[in-house]
Amino acid sequence: MPEPFLIRARWVVPVEPAGAVLDDHVVAVRDGLIEAVLPLEAARARYPERAITELRQHVLVPGLVNAHTHAAMALMRGLADDLPLLRWLQQHIWPVEMRHVSPQFVRDGTLLACAEMLRGGTTCFNDMYFYPEAALESVLESGMRASLGMIVVEFASSYASDPDDYFEKGLALRDRWRDHPQLSFCLAPHAPYTVSDATFRRVARLVGEVDVPVHIHLHETGEEIERSLAEHGARPIERLRRLGLLGPGLIAVHGVHLTDEEIVLLARHGSSVVHCPSSNLKLASGFAPVARLMAAGVNVAFGTDGAASNNRLDTMQEMRLAALLAKAVARDAQALPAHAALRAATLGGARALGLEARIGSIAPGKCADLTAVRLAGPELIPCYDPVSHLVYAAGREQVSDVWVGGSRLVSGGILVNMGRFDLDTRAELWQNSLKTDPAS
Ligand SMILES: [Zn+2]
Repeated sequence: MPEPFLIRARWVVPVEPAGAVLDDHVVAVRDGLIEAVLPLEAARARYPERAITELRQHVLVPGLVNAHTHAAMALMRGLADDLPLLRWLQQHIWPVEMRHVSPQFVRDGTLLACAEMLRGGTTCFNDMYFYPEAALESVLESGMRASLGMIVVEFASSYASDPDDYFEKGLALRDRWRDHPQLSFCLAPHAPYTVSDATFRRVARLVGEVDVPVHIHLHETGEEIERSLAEHGARPIERLRRLGLLGPGLIAVHGVHLTDEEIVLLARHGSSVVHCPSSNLKLASGFAPVARLMAAGVNVAFGTDGAASNNRLDTMQEMRLAALLAKAVARDAQALPAHAALRAATLGGARALGLEARIGSIAPGKCADLTAVRLAGPELIPCYDPVSHLVYAAGREQVSDVWVGGSRLVSGGILVNMGRFDLDTRAELWQNSLKTDPAS
């Protein structure tokens, strides 16, 4: 654990209380936690001996939370573009995964994803992929925080043979690592069209026993809903309600096609929706009703989805796109204002993952997961409102420094401890292997 230290920033945006912007403040960090947030003079008086990091052109915000991704798919970025979801999955992604995905694939892909996310200011991500034990190794190596999905699908993969096997492997991993400070876990039934009623019932029973969130793709496309009506006589959310899966731990990813009644149902159960605007645009899934969800009181977070359907693991970009799209979809320029977008990208993600007591805002007692963005240069001056710039004008290339649990993982835009992994060679080896696959 590093010595206690101070970070002085031109602006600190703590996210809680909502709308606050603190000029020339200091965040004091001790034992990986935020000890205090206070004006510069008060910090100098209280901590005269402490080392101080000066960020005089920067805004300091809580580390961004990418509430839905498939990290290892970073190795499949750009492999098959410009296709509708089911064709993309069935003819390209799934065949390539069947032939290539292995523990080593997941280790290398997740490491690459962690490097990209950290450099873009993301400090925590919610993952859903095969071989979560391999993803876990890379998460720990990177120093990031992650929520790992105990994935379940009905079909066999190289990772597991049937639902029993998926459950057994996921739960064993969670039992072993549940107390690790960087890690948390979700049950991750992939989607309504890949999971049976029997498996969903088992997920519902497990929620009662192990008290973890349920991370699922839900109401992503019109086709998903039509298929559910044909096969189950109900739309997916109604099907999940009948199976006992709606609740405060439900992380409904996408939520593109929702009726007013379904929005009310999600709000009443305290469920979260993870909005993935780039993925929804790229796969032509539609436009999520973000303003209506928020107005109903549904907790909204942002996700990048995997790099094969985005193609960036860039939470800042999702924040900007979400804020812009929400206005056009609602035909209301006041929908999802900048502060609300930042809140969804931080505290909204933390809440969805059940981690709001530990991360998501800059508050004493929370983990020192912090992102500094340099608001300087011709594209960012003058600056009347740092939160406006953060959401509408800046990009991940302006992220300068990132801490997770008080450890500085990005310094001056450079990843501090990822050089030892030789990501270039790893990516090149997988590229050579995947590009010869007939489905690529
Ligand atoms: Zn996804």
